[in-house]
Amino acid sequence: MKKVYVAGHRGLVGSATVKALAALESYEIITRTHDELDLANRTATREFFLSERPDYVIMCAAKVGGILANASFPVDFLHNNLAIQVSVFDAAHASGVERMIFLGSSCIYPRDCLQPIREDYLLTGPLEATNRPYALAKIAGVESCWSFNRQYRRRYLALMPTNLYGPGDNYDPDNSHVLPALMRRFHQASMNGDSSVVVWGSGRPRREFMYSLDMGDAIAFLLGLPDSDFGALTDPDTAPLLNVGVGEDVTIRELSELVKATVSYEGALVFDPTKPDGTPRKLLDVTRLHTLGWKAKTSFGDGLHATYEDFLRHNNAPR
Ligand code: GDP
Repeated sequence: MKKVYVAGHRGLVGSATVKALAALESYEIITRTHDELDLANRTATREFFLSERPDYVIMCAAKVGGILANASFPVDFLHNNLAIQVSVFDAAHASGVERMIFLGSSCIYPRDCLQPIREDYLLTGPLEATNRPYALAKIAGVESCWSFNRQYRRRYLALMPTNLYGPGDNYDPDNSHVLPALMRRFHQASMNGDSSVVVWGSGRPRREFMYSLDMGDAIAFLLGLPDSDFGALTDPDTAPLLNVGVGEDVTIRELSELVKATVSYEGALVFDPTKPDGTPRKLLDVTRLHTLGWKAKTSFGDGLHATYEDFLRHNNAPR
């Protein structure tokens, strides 16, 4: 039985990955909370890897946040992520990890990228300023995968998920991503009987949303590939990155209407143009993933309802 270390198992992707892998009953899954292991600490991380000797690593640990959090704490997004990545790559290499899946983000692609975004568009243009520190840290992680694969023949796969949402998301009103932020705001407005809800920006940017449990499923699928197939995905000469998405996007206005309907809120939408729009559009080309035989299963409507039910179970305390 392969031993898999899921780094960041309490986050959106990490928790979905643990769920998907546990359901297969063919892996021994190991996790550590932040209190038990600070991944920014290189020595502690190396000791952990050398004593546990995981066969596989899913690297979901990261400092993440929405557009405003990125703008407010650029040092945290750049340095924390670089520190965690250097520790984990170093420790994985030192302990001979066979396969690693490193999670990036669709914001690593240029701001004004051709759409849908193919993997080979990476580094073909300037980045969006609002999340450049985070994006650069993640691009460094991609380069780490490539460098280890080239220099040491490692099998580290760089996976680029689109915007994710789902159970256990961060619903912080200021620092979260758009979907959980709107879910909380519409819910509260509905509870309070408010006549309108504020949505940041113009409502015109387009985003693609994937259910986090589908992401967990994609990771389990990729990890289960035979050695030759996984090796082909991490070949330093032929394999760039791998996008994971659903292949469709919506405007922020359309998203707002969908969340509004999910929450059964009946008031009006008010757009706040003083807040940033960020990247105009981020739709991933998922042809490579589809060719491998994997497709996202959850419809947006089903995912939104399941997420709202989870929100009601865990975040319904009045604020
Ligand atoms: P991004 O995909 O990296 O730009 O990150 P976000 O998820 O934070 O924002 C996506 C888009 O949603 C941006 O155009 C935001 O201006 C817009 N948006 C609208 N309302 C909100 C909100 O309440 N919170 C956040 N984070 N974004 C919002």
